Amino acid sequence: MNDFSQQLISELAAITPFNLLTSGRKLPVLLPFYHLVSNEDLPWRSNYDYPNLKQFETDLDFLLKYFKPIGLGDLLKKDDLSKCFHLSFDDGLRECSEVIAPMLKRKGVPASFFINPSFVDNRDLFHRYKASEITALLKAKNIHIKLQRTYADLATLDEMAEEIGLNWEEWLQEKQPYMTLEQIRTLKIDGFTIGSHTMDHPEFELLDEETQLEEIRESMEWVNEKLSPEIKAFAFPFTDVGVSDEVFETCHRENVYDISFGTAGIKKERFPFHFQRFPMEHRIELSPKIRLKQEYMAYRLKQLLGKHVARRFK
Ligand SMILES: [Zn+2]
Repeated sequence: MNDFSQQLISELAAITPFNLLTSGRKLPVLLPFYHLVSNEDLPWRSNYDYPNLKQFETDLDFLLKYFKPIGLGDLLKKDDLSKCFHLSFDDGLRECSEVIAPMLKRKGVPASFFINPSFVDNRDLFHRYKASEITALLKAKNIHIKLQRTYADLATLDEMAEEIGLNWEEWLQEKQPYMTLEQIRTLKIDGFTIGSHTMDHPEFELLDEETQLEEIRESMEWVNEKLSPEIKAFAFPFTDVGVSDEVFETCHRENVYDISFGTAGIKKERFPFHFQRFPMEHRIELSPKIRLKQEYMAYRLKQLLGKHVARRFK
């Protein structure tokens, strides 16, 4: 979205009451998602913003005031879900079990957690976190460089780590960034749903279709085997932009999962089993009311102006 579109959306959203923006027939269900909630400022997580505990609680209270919390299975029903929300959390970080779940339980909010099997039990680290940690360590030595940080750069990142004496195995043992399988099982026992988020979080646009399907199948099989979820759920890593209809149709035909998710914000989808989620961490410094008003306004403008004109608002 360019600056002008963002400015226009902000101003229109500011003068439109929240209830007006969120009422009306057939609005898509609200699916806010996060990665973590923490009061700590950790350099290896600098690739995205995240709320502190107070901000997260403010978000939750706001959502609960205007929307009804629903479980994952409710999304597959054909009811009108425009005044409902289902929360989810990606990447399986330790805070999901230690900070987020206790607060959700206290407030009676169901949620889904999407995990990467390769990272469970702190066996490996997401390449973006590796890049952020290396950058921070170099910065501390007054070396400022911009690292390539995609899945394709993983070998280079590992080489760099070795050169600066960073041993990932030791680092993982010390920091313990991820949940253990035991903690994930406890989440399930507590009534939360667990889904897959690929084996090790690659950028899908770098993979061919067959490899994309392999990532989905293998990670879903792992989750099915270890956690036997009632509903098989999958969240695309980063984004589902560019994922072909063929991949969606194959997953559906082979019953690889029951439901899948992207991260495109409030948006209607072409497949009844695929949903878009709203990144709540984006512009976390703003109140939940302002963030959601702007998102609903953007959705409504796109609907109103139609696909052709709406391209300008992207
Ligand atoms: Zn992710």
